[in-house]
Amino acid sequence: MQYYSTNKKAPLASLQKAVVKGLAEDRGLYMPERINKMSKTFFDNIHTMAFRDIAYNVAEAFFGEDVDPDGLQELVYDTLSFDCPVVKVKDNIYTLELFHGPTLAFKDVGARFMARLLQYYIRQQGAHEQVNVLVATSGDTGSAVANGFLGVEGIHVYVLYPKGKVSPIQECQFTTLGKNITAIEVDGVFDDCQALVKSAFMDEELNRHMKLTSANSINVARFLPQAFYYFNAYARMKEQGLADELVMCVPSGNFGNICAALFGHEMGLPIKRFIAANNANDVFFNYLQTGVYEPKPSKQTLANAMDVGDPSNFARIYDLYGDSHERISKLISGATYSDEMIKEAMRTCYAETGYILDPHGACGYRALEEQLKPGEVGVFCETAHPAKFKEKVDEILGIDVAIPDRLAAFMKGEKQSVPMSKAFSDFKSFLMKQ
Ligand SMILES: *Cc1c(COP(=O)(O)O)cnc(C)c1O
Repeated sequence: MQYYSTNKKAPLASLQKAVVKGLAEDRGLYMPERINKMSKTFFDNIHTMAFRDIAYNVAEAFFGEDVDPDGLQELVYDTLSFDCPVVKVKDNIYTLELFHGPTLAFKDVGARFMARLLQYYIRQQGAHEQVNVLVATSGDTGSAVANGFLGVEGIHVYVLYPKGKVSPIQECQFTTLGKNITAIEVDGVFDDCQALVKSAFMDEELNRHMKLTSANSINVARFLPQAFYYFNAYARMKEQGLADELVMCVPSGNFGNICAALFGHEMGLPIKRFIAANNANDVFFNYLQTGVYEPKPSKQTLANAMDVGDPSNFARIYDLYGDSHERISKLISGATYSDEMIKEAMRTCYAETGYILDPHGACGYRALEEQLKPGEVGVFCETAHPAKFKEKVDEILGIDVAIPDRLAAFMKGEKQSVPMSKAFSDFKSFLMKQ
């Protein structure tokens, strides 16, 4: 399968090139040139299949031309060593819990899949040169990428994070790992971390010295595997006879997760319509109302993993529907919530049902409460475990959220990180010594 750029000014790329490069030469995002439909037999039997077998079938449609069947099955099974169950919250509202992976957030699947696909290519080529992944994080991405790549031979990961700006629970998930993961604590803000990574990719001398790649969410190997989730959600709802008028609601920031769901829809997944639930960052919401896409600086909110003012994957959604506002707004509706509304949704849901929402999932819950029509059944994604945002959740609900063992284990580890100024010359001389 070949991949084209959403900007249409770069040459077609192989899967391997798209994964290693991340972004196309013209700064566009890679898209597969074809989207294969899943068969009728697959959908007839999907409710009898386990998550990882569903995922393998979907992975074959994406990557089957490029990765041999045994390699692909190992890749998928290794990635999905955990489940993503659908849980009833109340009435016709269900949640797809995407937080049962190693770092308790949905980015685990994409990060793990990408790590294993890179490893597959390294092995296939018998390459001896180490690949170095640079990733800037404000919290969640760093933990998913570090854990996804932990112990993967031939790859070293450098996680850059802003000193004092990441919660202790998030920080311990990438600073205590050791092995092939190096945490770099930058004396600056998230934008400084991102600037250091960008400068590193552009520095010729550094790129001659070491092979650099990125693992951010625009990478096709990180975003496409998220489609697995939605096929599983459909299967688990069909199992209960509840899949006839399914509405899927995705709390969104960079729009990678919902974009993967839309790819699923294009592959024939029978979901009636989608809702993109946003916090106060309302660029996509406004686009749906007006047809005009106007990026803005991001606003800080309670649901901080969705604080995005110019969602990268909008370009993919736009491309997927032939740039048609009519097609996009017919299939997807929007929602935007202030921090006060998020808190209120968390409180009323907990009081009515006992279910503990995290601030991101709360946007999804509230959107379904407001927008479901008679006869429809809604599923919203719980994108992170509430314990990842323990300080906030405890304060809002007046409870003491239990910390899962996996998370507690990270917190016992010893923090190791390399202090770094925000000057590129310091970062470069550090990397030149590696
Ligand atoms: C990354 C993230 C999101 C947003 O996902 P996108 O794919 O960027 O839209 C939502 N919730 C949590 C907890 C996240 O970490």
